[in-house]
Amino acid sequence: MLGPAVTAHTSQLIRLDANSAAEGSRKPLFGLDSEALSALMVAAGEPAWRGRQMSEAIYRQRLAELDVITTLPLTLRQRLAAEGWEVGRPRIAQAFISTDGTERYLVECRTPEARTEAPGDRSIVAGVETVETVWMPEGDEGEAGDGSEPEEAGKSWQRATICVSSQVGCAVNCQFCLTAKLGLQRNLTAGEIAGQVVAVLDRHGVEVGKERVNLVFMGMGEPFLNYDNFMAAVRLLVKEVGLSPQRMTVSTSGIVPGIERFAEEPPEVRPKVAISLNAPNDAIRSEVMPINRKWPIEAVVDAVRKIRLRPRERITFEYVLLGGVTDRPEHAAEVARLVRRTGLPVKVNLIAWNPGPGVPYAMPKPEAVEAFKRALAAEGVPVYLRRPRGRDIFAACGQLKRTVEG
Ligand code: SAH
Ligand code: SF4
Repeated sequence: MLGPAVTAHTSQLIRLDANSAAEGSRKPLFGLDSEALSALMVAAGEPAWRGRQMSEAIYRQRLAELDVITTLPLTLRQRLAAEGWEVGRPRIAQAFISTDGTERYLVECRTPEARTEAPGDRSIVAGVETVETVWMPEGDEGEAGDGSEPEEAGKSWQRATICVSSQVGCAVNCQFCLTAKLGLQRNLTAGEIAGQVVAVLDRHGVEVGKERVNLVFMGMGEPFLNYDNFMAAVRLLVKEVGLSPQRMTVSTSGIVPGIERFAEEPPEVRPKVAISLNAPNDAIRSEVMPINRKWPIEAVVDAVRKIRLRPRERITFEYVLLGGVTDRPEHAAEVARLVRRTGLPVKVNLIAWNPGPGVPYAMPKPEAVEAFKRALAAEGVPVYLRRPRGRDIFAACGQLKRTVEG
């Protein structure tokens, strides 16, 4: 058995044994870093550099089957397969394409031991579970404001952004969010989080290093409540896939212990951070985001202060405009004061609330959105209005609930 011998080398592999115990075979290589892959090779009686070849094949060349990894000897591939190993990268099972070019994917994940049996959960088809990932060819302005400009003319997408999920469902229970309705089904593994990105890069033939892509961890789930797997995925994406953490943004609802851990991450693997503020004060925030009762605004801001920002880096405050609830002129003035009080270099991303079935809020009026934006700008707060993307295919912020109707 290759499995147990490798487990001693890295905690990343413990889950694999759990998988194989549950199903007796299928162990994904995707999700293991170079070090773990090298340990696997050594356990198979091969030189360690075979691990780097494997990493190159699955993360850089994006080969999705052992059969086609011809840099490795056939006999080795056959032995790995006989031991139950497979590339095991998450697969795009379904794509919904918006009139604005946005694409929403249902990405298949197979982790049998973690499968949920929620009644009526249509995301599970014959033991296969799906999560959502979104491709926005021109971004949604949410990634803007880092001081950089779109490069390269002539490509149909120049500022593409991939929106990545970190959990199936979410436990946080924000009142305006459709994902909250699912509750937390389970955490995604590092391979499942990074795999969404690699599957989408592959679909669009993105040349990493040449073409610019932004990642936002703003899909389903709360990344900081799946901290270890989320950060392991970021390390894979940086070190194995070759993406820059400066083009990644993780959004959190304000999980203070998570932000504090994040502040300790080395800059070479630390994404930028966005905080879902969503209200002008604690009273309203506790209404719309009950998590605020546990970690109020000041506690979140204190934790954020611990992050050592890079030159020109800003903290993003996301602000969902709920019609009549958070979009009034007095709220804008309060947000401006709040932002100034933090003393942090910030920008505010406004998001007009996207409606969803059974969510009891109203969309803000376009005039209210414009007035809110103008009021912040007049106070000297850098402010961006996020353009709704893929609303027609339920791909917009807060609409990710695995709507199969598309
Ligand atoms: N859980 C993380 C990241 C995913 S949500 C977080 O909450 O930050 C990403 C963003 O979408 C958050 O800023 C959230 O406030 C926003 N959002 C959620 N539901 C929304 C909706 N229905 N319309 C617009 N934005 C929404
Ligand atoms: Fe979870 Fe974010 Fe939705 Fe809140 S807004 S329920 S934290 S996904």
